[in-house]
Amino acid sequence: MTLHIPFDNSYARLPGTMFSRQAPARVPAPGLIAFNRPLAERLGITGADDPALAALLSGNGIPEGAEPLAQLYAGHQFGNYSPQLGDGRALLLGEVVDRDGIRRDIQLKGSGPTPYARRGDGLAWLGPVLREYTVSEAMHAMGIPTTRALAAVRTGGEVYRDRPLPGAVLTRVARSHIRVGTFQIFAARGMLDELRALFAHAVARHYPDAGEPPVFLSRVIHAQAELIAAWMGVGFIHGVMNTDNCAISGETIDYGPCAFMDAYHPDTVYSSIDRWGRYAYAAQADIIVWNMAQLATALIPLMPDAEKAIAAFQPQINAMADLIRGAWLARFAAKIGIARPRAADAALIGELLNLMQAAEADFTNTFRALAETGSAGALLPGADAADWQGRWQARIHDEPKAEARMRAANPAIIPRNHRIEAMIAAAEAGDDAPFHRLNAALATPYDPPADADDLRQPPQPDEVVQATFCGT
Ligand code: AMP
Ligand code: MG
Repeated sequence: MTLHIPFDNSYARLPGTMFSRQAPARVPAPGLIAFNRPLAERLGITGADDPALAALLSGNGIPEGAEPLAQLYAGHQFGNYSPQLGDGRALLLGEVVDRDGIRRDIQLKGSGPTPYARRGDGLAWLGPVLREYTVSEAMHAMGIPTTRALAAVRTGGEVYRDRPLPGAVLTRVARSHIRVGTFQIFAARGMLDELRALFAHAVARHYPDAGEPPVFLSRVIHAQAELIAAWMGVGFIHGVMNTDNCAISGETIDYGPCAFMDAYHPDTVYSSIDRWGRYAYAAQADIIVWNMAQLATALIPLMPDAEKAIAAFQPQINAMADLIRGAWLARFAAKIGIARPRAADAALIGELLNLMQAAEADFTNTFRALAETGSAGALLPGADAADWQGRWQARIHDEPKAEARMRAANPAIIPRNHRIEAMIAAAEAGDDAPFHRLNAALATPYDPPADADDLRQPPQPDEVVQATFCGT
């Protein structure tokens, strides 16, 4: 049977200066690792056996109706403006309108160089492909907005990094791949027709009742405030919150050197390239405000004049920190069983986090223990912790359904970094079973399978992963 993807491409109709049409590179021997059938079904994708899927989702052939293109964008990388980035190793195949009526991009990542590849080879190796597949699907299962993974395919070819590595291609699904940096490039270059076309496209797709730039900015700010609070609630560190990795839709995008925290510490960093901790766990709440200020700057040319623009945008940027604090409080209050937080609850949560930091307690397991047993047990020893627990119990005494709320707010299973690394090492040696097992367990993070206790354990000292490397 032939693969049928019901493409309905709208980005390809935008001005041709906004992207480059590009065919994927051929690969030697494609082999399917994973195909996300439930997601495919929601997208209305039918037909095709494994070899046909592997061929088409590795770039060996173009599915009927696809119009592959690389999108142009720029972005601030670690605070410095890179005037041209763009999809260097990704191709938008096209869009489909899914069963829920939502338009979604289907993109290949690792499908060969594009005009924006600069000095890169346009390829991806197996490790980052399996990491993004696993972590993005885990995020989705946790209920956090994210791009998703439709397929992972081995190319049969080699990719050269510090050593030869097996090549792979990820098929990614997103509400769109429009980034803060997509707006930045057209604003910075004075390409106003393109900026207007992008704005109209983004409004229609994401915020159809937000046709005025100040309202649009407000929607993006709200979506991003919720997203950052959701990340913090599960101990997620994106790793590279550059403005080109910040989606207008409010979805988590571009999983590179990302990781979930084991022991709680607000300054935790995993990315090997983040030497100053710009994108550390707790810093994410500040950086997103900076990123939204860059978006606001890029929207200025869409306003009648700069003065009006600044008057409309600046108060929103100034208010974003409070917005994040509110979203954070709602998330963390739910994590300790509280439905409607009061002002004093922020201090109660802060005290718990301080105790966790001092005890180097595992973030996920401490909250889950509170949910499952009403006590952090051995994870939080000492008199101060016992005192906190007493005051917490008193606070939630009258909260209806506190336990159920906590179970639904505290995942038992997260994609722990040492498990990801072990899964990648196995796949590199040809064994995909750990990848499949990890993904199966992560599908129900709040209701863990009984045989997955080992996946809930933090790393042993010799298993601790110190750094993750960029998705190249
Ligand atoms: P990232 O750090 O993955 O968000 O990528 C930043 C920029 O580098 C984007 O424009 C990517 O398309 C580009 N890039 C990353 N890796 C490669 C590669 N292997 N070949 C070509 N371009 C790449
Ligand atoms: Mg990126």
